[in-house]
Amino acid sequence: MIDILEDKIVKTRKDHNCWGCAEVISKKTNVKMVCSAEEGEITRTYWCDDCVYILSEIDNYDKEDGFAYGELIQIYNDYYREIKDV
Ligand SMILES: [Zn+2]
Repeated sequence: MIDILEDKIVKTRKDHNCWGCAEVISKKTNVKMVCSAEEGEITRTYWCDDCVYILSEIDNYDKEDGFAYGELIQIYNDYYREIKDV
């Protein structure tokens, strides 16, 4: 069970890797940051615009358990191909 503590748009102060697709998000970019807690462990994840879009397209049911690092692009590869090729 994952508790979402924070979910907001932040300006990054250093480079981060997108949690969904593992691509580098360079510093001073506005990105979605989600701070969550699972079994007492706090995790901060950053999401690029492409991944935010994909998260908005998939059912809440599929997001319930969260995603491991880089897992989103593996599961929803077809989606990524669609939006990145446009
Ligand atoms: Zn991404």
